[in-house]
Amino acid sequence: MERFDVAVVGMGALGSAAAYHLSHTGVRTIAFEQFELGHVRGASHDTSRIIRTSYGSSPYVRLAQASYRDWAAFEAATGERLTTVTGGLVFIPTDGPFAASDFVSSLTEAQVPHELLAPEDVHARWPQFSLPANVETVYTPDSGIVHAARSVAAFQMHARMNGVVVRDRTPVLSLVPDESGVIVRTEHGDVHAGKVVLAADAWTNTLLAPLGAEIPLITMQEQVTYFAPEEPDAFDRDRFPVWIWEDEQCFYGFPTYGEPTIKAARDRSDNVMSPEERTFVPSPELLAELTDFMSSTIPGSGGVLRTVTCQYAITPDRNFVIGPVPRHPDIIVALGAGHAFKFTPTIGRILAELAVNGETTEDISTFGVADAHDPASGIDHRPVFVD
Ligand SMILES: Cc1cc2nc3c(=O)[nH]c(=O)nc-3n(C[C@H](O)[C@H](O)[C@H](O)COP(=O)(O)OP(=O)(O)OC[C@H]3O[C@@H](n4cnc5c(N)ncnc54)[C@H](O)[C@@H]3O)c2cc1C
Repeated sequence: MERFDVAVVGMGALGSAAAYHLSHTGVRTIAFEQFELGHVRGASHDTSRIIRTSYGSSPYVRLAQASYRDWAAFEAATGERLTTVTGGLVFIPTDGPFAASDFVSSLTEAQVPHELLAPEDVHARWPQFSLPANVETVYTPDSGIVHAARSVAAFQMHARMNGVVVRDRTPVLSLVPDESGVIVRTEHGDVHAGKVVLAADAWTNTLLAPLGAEIPLITMQEQVTYFAPEEPDAFDRDRFPVWIWEDEQCFYGFPTYGEPTIKAARDRSDNVMSPEERTFVPSPELLAELTDFMSSTIPGSGGVLRTVTCQYAITPDRNFVIGPVPRHPDIIVALGAGHAFKFTPTIGRILAELAVNGETTEDISTFGVADAHDPASGIDHRPVFVD
């Protein structure tokens, strides 16, 4: 059997970034992807993802700050240009479930520049938006865009250039822990790895369940829509920021990016389906809901050009799960809960550090994995259930 120090399962954003960071540690690494590299059946394809530090929770703000440093380091080391700063607005209705004060306090604590704006301030600076009077807006100048498909391809290419063995079109059938690591079974043969980085997102429980472990996960088909504004120049990134509407129903969107369209979507549309059940057909109801929102909030957004589907695998509280699996500590799991792209290089680095050193320089206590039957873990709200 071939032997490796680390095997990465899943070559979406997180697995590809882990493979890249592992390639710099000198350990022998193999990475598996069940489909072709760059496929559209997971969560990491298409063009743009929002990057931002503006979260209403300090651990995420701190992780985002690390991510800005790690994106910059990756761009500097490789010559890739992947991130674009546009500034960002988070709109928070005062009668909704989110509080602008949470954003302000976590950003203040982390010393991230930000402004709290009234609707008239927003309209004066970005007249493209039409906001109701009960909306508070948090502006962060550091928000922006990262190119999703190009980033994943770059992590994969540089991992390969640095010696990672990549086996695409090779589903991992099972993980079998033994006394010195894990046997990784595939239909093209088995390999032995000292550690496994499991970055399989919506497919995570397929490999964990036979080990008696399970992450509480909801998988759903999401969709993003490209609108064609009559005046695309008004939505240029110098004049129009990324934006998020934080309410019972959340929406988000982008300035023009590479083409004269603006992309927008609802976050967590609850179009629940497993990867096997996915239709790849956009929901007309969700599209109608989005176009209603866009015509009232961004009146110049224009007509619908196309809609692309994507996949979310989210934990009930939207928190990440990052860490060794209880009782199977040679398997390190990473689950991005539908908002991890911005953190890709940092989560990849954390996974590599955990696999190689057994510890990470980042504080991942909020994202840890708990044994559901271990009350001492203190993180029983974010469990991998172990029988
Ligand atoms: C529409 C949409 C918009 C988003 N917008 C943002 C945003 O603006 N900002 C942001 O930060 N985040 C955003 N996200 C979230 C972010 O894109 C995801 O959290 C991130 O891409 C997840 O990456 P991943 O590698 O964990 O998952 P995936 O990309 O799904 O990768 C998992 C991979 O594992 C492979 N795999 C699974 N099982 C096996 C197996 N047994 N053997 C081999 N391979 C296997 C799969 O084929 C897949 O390629 C968005 C997500 C979507 C869908």
